[in-house]
Amino acid sequence: MCYNAVMNIPNYPKLKLKQGRDWTARRGHPWVFSGALQTPVPPHKAGTVVDLEDAGGEFVARGYYNSGTDIAVRILTVNPDLPIDAHFFAERLADAYNLRKTHLDLETTNAFRLVNAEGDYIPGLIADYYAGVVVIQSHTAGIDHLLDYIIDGIKQVLQPKALLLRNDVQVRTREGLKREEPQLIFGEIPKELVVTENNLKFAVNPWTGQKTGFYADQRDKRLALLHYSKGSSLLNCFSYSGGFSVYAAHANPKLKTTSLDQSAVALELARRNFSLNNLYSDKHAFVVADAFEYLQSCTERFDTVVLDPPAFTKSHREKEKALQGYVRLNTLGLPLVKPGGILLTCSCSGSISMEDFSGTIAQAAAQTHRRVQILESLEHGLDHPVNIFTPESRYLKALFCRVLD
Ligand code: SAH
Repeated sequence: MCYNAVMNIPNYPKLKLKQGRDWTARRGHPWVFSGALQTPVPPHKAGTVVDLEDAGGEFVARGYYNSGTDIAVRILTVNPDLPIDAHFFAERLADAYNLRKTHLDLETTNAFRLVNAEGDYIPGLIADYYAGVVVIQSHTAGIDHLLDYIIDGIKQVLQPKALLLRNDVQVRTREGLKREEPQLIFGEIPKELVVTENNLKFAVNPWTGQKTGFYADQRDKRLALLHYSKGSSLLNCFSYSGGFSVYAAHANPKLKTTSLDQSAVALELARRNFSLNNLYSDKHAFVVADAFEYLQSCTERFDTVVLDPPAFTKSHREKEKALQGYVRLNTLGLPLVKPGGILLTCSCSGSISMEDFSGTIAQAAAQTHRRVQILESLEHGLDHPVNIFTPESRYLKALFCRVLD
């Protein structure tokens, strides 16, 4: 690589934008679509750091390139004097960590998302922090290419006791990347990794657990549920490791809970989490079942019902089908809520907006002849910041509803 002698900046390959296609990047949008580039685009290895220039040859932004995706360039900086190296990532990581240190109580919570990709200005990178263990996930060729710098940055900023790379996710295939086996980059991960969230304990399996081991994105919804689970029974569908059930059972000793998931492994973790918090007793049931089938055949009614299904769609193309899925699920869930009880219903489908989602609950309410009031609507916790230019990454929606006769 040649260097620019004055600033000591590597001479990154240059890609030219078409006339008038520089303004979104200049405003701060992190993506440049392939149609905005002048053709032919010189061949570059996927993940190469490039400088984008406008049609007049002026610097616009620096980012990484992949010819194989619609998002041809993901922008890292609009500062021409900033080289993309370990120092660059250490600064971004320090800023990301600072946000969490400032606004989360790390005395009572040591499990959080440390880097939320575009939301933390490191497009394509996910990093989660679990009690001194960092788990990272690369969604793009650019992040794969820059990984050594990122690892250095993480070491500098956090000095974690272990770093695990979880590149076994499907989204990698969108960038033409392979899914890989989890790989320990350094350190040792305790046999049982236990984190605290709002002073409650949760066992996390970073090697094989869903996401990178835990759904930190529901932390604030779990806390909010405490105000609403005042009755004597809670049904938690799609419970995974029992987060909502543990919070509610801890706050309300008279509560009986049923945690339901199709995964027996998830429910083993849920059981363990009840034990870790000294809550394990025969008041708490763990049901391995398909939630749709269970809801359809269940004759009991509950004071509180939680529905937190996996995403029904990952793309805009399947949006209509996904909307119908939410109508169906909530049509099955609403009849199980006692009059005056609470339904917490969630969607983590990125292509479905809060308005779309509440529309599906309205349809379900009409079909089941229940009156439904929205009491509170929440999205992400503050450790999942959303880049203002990528509203499509606002995937999580949670509605706390009161259900009347
Ligand atoms: N509420 C959880 C996260 C839920 S993630 C928490 O707070 O941590 C979605 C869960 O739904 C996963 O654990 C998955 O195993 C489960 N799941 C997916 N499809 C299902 C189905 N048809 N019936 C029951 N559980 C299902």
